[in-house]
Amino acid sequence: MSFAELGLIPELLRAVEDAGYSEPTPIQRQAIPIVLEGRDVMGGAQTGTGKTAGFTLPLLQKLARWANTSTSPARHPVRALVLAPTRELAMQVHESVQTYAKHLTLRSACIYGGVDIKPQLAELRRGVEIVVATPGRLLDHVEQRSIALGQVEIVVLDEADRMLDMGFIPDIRRILGLLPQQRQSLLFSATFSEEIKKLADTMLQNPQLIEVARRNTVSETITHRVYPANANIKRELLTWLLHDDRNASQVLVFVATKTYCARLARQLQKDGISADAIHGDKNQQQRTEALEGFKSGQIRVLVATDVAARGLDIDDLPYVVNFELPHTAEDYVHRIGRTGRAGKQGNAVSLVAPEEQIRLSAIEKLIKLKIPQETVAGFDIAATPDSTRRILRNQAADRRAHIAPDGFDFSRPYSVQPESETETASASRPNPLKRPIRPVAALLGGSGR
Ligand code: AMP
Repeated sequence: MSFAELGLIPELLRAVEDAGYSEPTPIQRQAIPIVLEGRDVMGGAQTGTGKTAGFTLPLLQKLARWANTSTSPARHPVRALVLAPTRELAMQVHESVQTYAKHLTLRSACIYGGVDIKPQLAELRRGVEIVVATPGRLLDHVEQRSIALGQVEIVVLDEADRMLDMGFIPDIRRILGLLPQQRQSLLFSATFSEEIKKLADTMLQNPQLIEVARRNTVSETITHRVYPANANIKRELLTWLLHDDRNASQVLVFVATKTYCARLARQLQKDGISADAIHGDKNQQQRTEALEGFKSGQIRVLVATDVAARGLDIDDLPYVVNFELPHTAEDYVHRIGRTGRAGKQGNAVSLVAPEEQIRLSAIEKLIKLKIPQETVAGFDIAATPDSTRRILRNQAADRRAHIAPDGFDFSRPYSVQPESETETASASRPNPLKRPIRPVAALLGGSGR
């Protein structure tokens, strides 16, 4: 099936073609005709399924009749509102809106907190048909009377389960109360709890349910791996894995806390790996810079907390690493939803300490999959920080001695500190792991080691 068969107008078909999409994804095939019909939608879809275009394309088509080039703000009232739980997701959805609306004269704005409100005020004052917003900042604008929502025709609640986790539901209810009763409403969520269903009952009228993957399931293109390891050697294991597989070119690493997020990024840098951190204590500019650096390939490893990583859309992200398993099994689904997108191959690697076994079992039950376990020689459950650092120094020496440079910078000194003078790494020492350094990405993807 083609996008044209879904009844999209030429301006949108051109935009889709420009984006390089050859055919609609399953959620797009389902959602586009239903939204065009004007029906409310309850969509069960993870990120990575193409859901953003699934709601954005028909939304734009419905607003296309209002497109105009007038400079009068009165001719550009807010007609569509998309609510997203995080600034990053809001920015990404807004990017999609801009991509697909490029051949239409519709205006859009992205409204989120943590940045100066004044440029947003100016933008809203000029008039915009589409607003993508996080709930808190939107309500700030409502209070300042810089936005009027009385002419909204379509509202989209994206990642509703995240909104719930982040405590946004009261804000959402307030915002919904400001919208006209007569409107079209779409709600998307990767998981459906009782609370989400309750919200859907109040927000949606006779909704059409669309679901692409079974709830709480993960993409089949993802290879899952567990590396059992005590917490005190996880950092060394990660360093080893990253150095061993240079084809793991973009790696998103999840950690539990903001403090450890920054610390791990610094430690990886010390280990000669380009890394940055993205967490809630960073200001918006720092977060955007880290994300941009990661997307452009300047930064190889992005260490993130769940909140900061929510909704991140990075094309072709090959690896996600759970440095610790998340406390709720659903978060595993969210985390690894950043890889294996749109039919591409992805790798989900988890470093699991014995005390995390209960979480692992809950995850396996939820995704209905027994995750294969692997061990790296020397980094097993009996390993100590001292023994693993020794191996790392040998790995570093081995790299310096053996790998032909192909643009990869091995000239930086390897900085894992020796425990004693006699332990200094030597290039002539044979690799205790007794394995050649493989040129291809067998590692995290599972090589049957
Ligand atoms: P989403 O689930 O909306 O976060 O989208 C995931 C990724 O799939 C994004 O990078 C989109 O650019 C991409 N995408 C969306 N629709 C299509 C399509 N029909 N064909 C190929 N890629 C797509």
